[in-house]
Amino acid sequence: MTESFIPLSVPSFTGNELKYVSECITTGWVSFAGSFVGRFESMTTDFTGAKEAVACQSGTAALHLSLILAGVHKDDEVLVPTLTFIAPVNTIHYVGAHPVFMDCDAYLNIDPVKVHAFCENECQLEDNHLFNKKTGRRVRAIMVVHLFGHPVNMDEIFPIAQKYNLKIIEDATEALGSKYTTGAFAGKSVGTVGDFGCFSYNGNKIITTGGGGMIVTDNKILANKARYLSTQAKDDEDKFIHNEVGYNYRMTNLQAALGCGQMEHLPDIIQTKRTHLKKYTEKLSGIPGVKFITEPTYSFSNYWHLTLRIDAKEYGLSALKLKEVLAEHKIQARMIWELCHKQKPYAACEAFQISNALKQQEQCLNIPCSASLTDMELARVAEVIKNKS
Ligand SMILES: *Cc1c(COP(=O)(O)O)cnc(C)c1O
Repeated sequence: MTESFIPLSVPSFTGNELKYVSECITTGWVSFAGSFVGRFESMTTDFTGAKEAVACQSGTAALHLSLILAGVHKDDEVLVPTLTFIAPVNTIHYVGAHPVFMDCDAYLNIDPVKVHAFCENECQLEDNHLFNKKTGRRVRAIMVVHLFGHPVNMDEIFPIAQKYNLKIIEDATEALGSKYTTGAFAGKSVGTVGDFGCFSYNGNKIITTGGGGMIVTDNKILANKARYLSTQAKDDEDKFIHNEVGYNYRMTNLQAALGCGQMEHLPDIIQTKRTHLKKYTEKLSGIPGVKFITEPTYSFSNYWHLTLRIDAKEYGLSALKLKEVLAEHKIQARMIWELCHKQKPYAACEAFQISNALKQQEQCLNIPCSASLTDMELARVAEVIKNKS
């Protein structure tokens, strides 16, 4: 029997994407001018409830600019989870600051209990500025990551950031469409709680522009500053006067056209992913040691990725072994990233009481979750997980 390949996650273009992109090409507006960038930004403010949105070339560029605008400087420290894709950590390095790695909670997000313990026991406040007692450096910000779409517990993180005067940058690159349902931020989208929120439209994210990112903030002055810095900090259009060091980080009209098309069916994509989860859960129920990571009780998740937590003792196979079994059936699954505090460029950085992240990394496996996944494909994946062979 020949089985077709089932990818982990591929984009779906089922709406006006081609029409909008063609419009850019026929009108010639493919680059930095044209109407789609502004339209994509206003679709984003409408959808998230943020006051301002600034479209960038990538999620990484959005995070980098956010750190600059949050006032994170050379030799500052930024608290960041070790369990994340490495991009947010790299942006901390770009501004000359140092990451301090934090452990994760049951939803794989930064652990508020340990963040508090770190600020309380390892740091001291002087003139309302937080300093790491060991390094003497100022701890300026916390960068949270809404992992795989599941909202970080901001009810706990926000008061800690207030108490210790830390700026909050939300890496919401995986979580467009996720929001809080209860608590102090009920009704708010991820990315709109902290000082800055960043989204990504990389090819494997919930929607894509090929490559792209977005900063959301309620601060109009800083949003305009982001636009300025993302277009080489040009102060005079005619004479090309630049009073600051800028970046080439602005999104193109072509990317934004694709984004506008994608935004139109984002709610449908999220609904489809949630239905996938329901179907998988039914099919996998009763298998010992196999459970999905579900949205935190206080939230609604976009379920960008569907993550199984495998208890190797109960299930009989490790997550890694299951990944290999799935691969034999041409089904793509993926373990989570190597922890950032173990990555070569950051191995010498401080890592605070990392324990849960080590366990989660061994147990978690992402399985096929594309919006275009068919019922037959889903059943095939579930069958292999059930049979373990
Ligand atoms: C994808 C991703 C990014 C980076 O986004 P790009 O658009 O690829 O630059 C940053 N952080 C996390 C957690 C991501 O998954």
